[in-house]
Amino acid sequence: MKQYSIAIDGPAGSGKSTVAKEIAKKLGILYVDTGAMYRTVGLYCIKNGIDLQQQSHIVSALKKIDMKIELSDGMQMIFLNGENVTQKIRTQEAGKAASAVAAILPVREKLVEIQRNLAKGHSVIMDGRDIGTNVLPDAAVKIYLNASVEQRTKRRCYELAMMGKTWDKKQIEQQIIQRDESDMNRKYHPLKKAEDAIEIDTSFMSIEEVVFKILNIVEEKIKKI
Ligand code: C5P
Repeated sequence: MKQYSIAIDGPAGSGKSTVAKEIAKKLGILYVDTGAMYRTVGLYCIKNGIDLQQQSHIVSALKKIDMKIELSDGMQMIFLNGENVTQKIRTQEAGKAASAVAAILPVREKLVEIQRNLAKGHSVIMDGRDIGTNVLPDAAVKIYLNASVEQRTKRRCYELAMMGKTWDKKQIEQQIIQRDESDMNRKYHPLKKAEDAIEIDTSFMSIEEVVFKILNIVEEKIKKI
């Protein structure tokens, strides 16, 4: 079969990564989580005391960041200067730092190059904010996953509860609204639905329902390529 790409974009908490991982396994294709790459740059800045308001400092730091990605079995491992940071980037703090560094053009250019290289020569499902609009504009299938702020807040609170962490619902809701605001309104490659993307509102859908719906769309589109 011919190689194809699936682009999944949408705001934080819309279910992108859970759904994309599942689809990658079902179709036996690679899964690339691009948010993890922005989180890794964010983590480097946190670890090295780089002020996230100082764009020039972040751009200088880029030269010192060696990012390696290993993909296997629908899983992605990410290494920052030789250290496996796959788990360490999964904090609220790293997410916030990711959103700050993601607004800087040289950061995006460096990471988009890595992302396009990973997609070369493979069938791939990639999730992020600008995959359908910028990274893989020719993707055979483009999906825009959305969900209400209320549902995304509930999901995040549930995740934190499952990890045994304490949380404040109002605070989580505010963080989600702020992240939407910065991702949708930044100058370079903001989060938006590609013209040819199919939007799915996952607010009241289970993971299985979303996966099923996307698999049907993929099957229809792939038949045509
Ligand atoms: O998806 P995740 O929450 O891990 O992404 C973290 C942040 O990285 C996002 O809030 C966004 O600012 C940035 N990002 C981006 N472009 C992508 C993927 C993530 O700007 N393709």
